[in-house]
Amino acid sequence: MTSQHPLPVTSMTCVLCNRTFAPGEVRYTCPDCGTDGLLEVLYDFPTASTRFDPEALRRSDARGLARYAAILPIRSAKSLPPLRVGGTPFYEVPRLGQVLGLSRLAVKDDGQNPTGSLKDRASAVAAAVALESGEPLITAASTGNAASSLSGMCASVGLRTVIFVPERAPRAKVAQLLMFGATVLSVRGTYDDAFELSLRATKEFGWYNRNTGFNPYLLEGKKTAALEIWEDLGYRVPDYVAVSVGDGCIVGGLGKGFRDLQRMGLIDRLPRLLAVQARGSSVLAKAFAQGDRVVPEPDADTYADSISVGFPRAAALALRGVRESAGNFVVVEDEEIQEAQVLLAHHAGVFAEPAGATPIAGLRKAVSQGLIPREARVVALVTGNGLKDVEGALKALREEPISIDRNPATLRDTLQAQGLA
Ligand SMILES: [Zn+2]
Repeated sequence: MTSQHPLPVTSMTCVLCNRTFAPGEVRYTCPDCGTDGLLEVLYDFPTASTRFDPEALRRSDARGLARYAAILPIRSAKSLPPLRVGGTPFYEVPRLGQVLGLSRLAVKDDGQNPTGSLKDRASAVAAAVALESGEPLITAASTGNAASSLSGMCASVGLRTVIFVPERAPRAKVAQLLMFGATVLSVRGTYDDAFELSLRATKEFGWYNRNTGFNPYLLEGKKTAALEIWEDLGYRVPDYVAVSVGDGCIVGGLGKGFRDLQRMGLIDRLPRLLAVQARGSSVLAKAFAQGDRVVPEPDADTYADSISVGFPRAAALALRGVRESAGNFVVVEDEEIQEAQVLLAHHAGVFAEPAGATPIAGLRKAVSQGLIPREARVVALVTGNGLKDVEGALKALREEPISIDRNPATLRDTLQAQGLA
């Protein structure tokens, strides 16, 4: 039914060698550049721009990703999963801003997506593409949010998922996968071993592959966060968007989203991207400072597990996106991420997973170093929900509940000791 509609994609271009392909000519990465040759998806932007007229968007009752179907790699918005992906809350957070030294700070909370992370945007597009091309099964390698979001999206539309996880994957995330009905293969090896096995399965069994930095359509889902920020601000872009960075796909996706708005003539400048990495996992920040020379670090490790990446899969795209925006990289310590998690929750009521609070840590540092003016219009993108990692959150708090005796006579004394009575 939906296959009667044409795909809005006009071409796909390799981010490394710029070779251009017709839609559907290549399924995953550039054949000349191998698995690093991620393809950028392009559309008929002049035609698409008529669908992005602010007046038309204001009148549109389409919700979430469906609002942007004219620049998504799908034939029909009806192919998107029924779950409520995107359209996430956008909050002005003046009290948090005051703590960080910013007078105009807002938070976009993507932890409110159905499975609790921004990855739902990418997985929703992957599921829609699979449905439209008659793929019965999707495979992916992941230790966390990408896999749980894929499993959730697929469960909602009746697609099967086969997920490769390293055997050390956190139990909570494995539970989410099994609950959504994924077939979970626990690999006796590392994440990279899991990644290779999933590529092998794709090659041998023809399964559709959702691996980050490999499947070109995922970025198209992630870019919708940028389109929403533009809408949230009344069809304007902020001065800065801060986001945490692991493999580079989300910051690359944001850059793509703002570039697409520029290609449609809807904005005349790009917001600067503040790309925030953790000290123990900062391959891309180092590359940015060293002429884009990417040196993988197999031992990369940070408290913010979702951005713990030694082999960034979307390096070229992320570096280009930050540079094009005249943005910058900032590196923060794990302790600063823990503090940011608490600040964000205390002063904005948003409970983020460690990687989700990392942009707050980056903003705090950037303001203190004079990299961002205090009066700049800033949006921090929170990429994952704090309930994903309760153990990590408790570590960040370094605080225990106040113990109280069950005898009511002790109530006043206990509260007085806390300055509450
Ligand atoms: Zn290439």
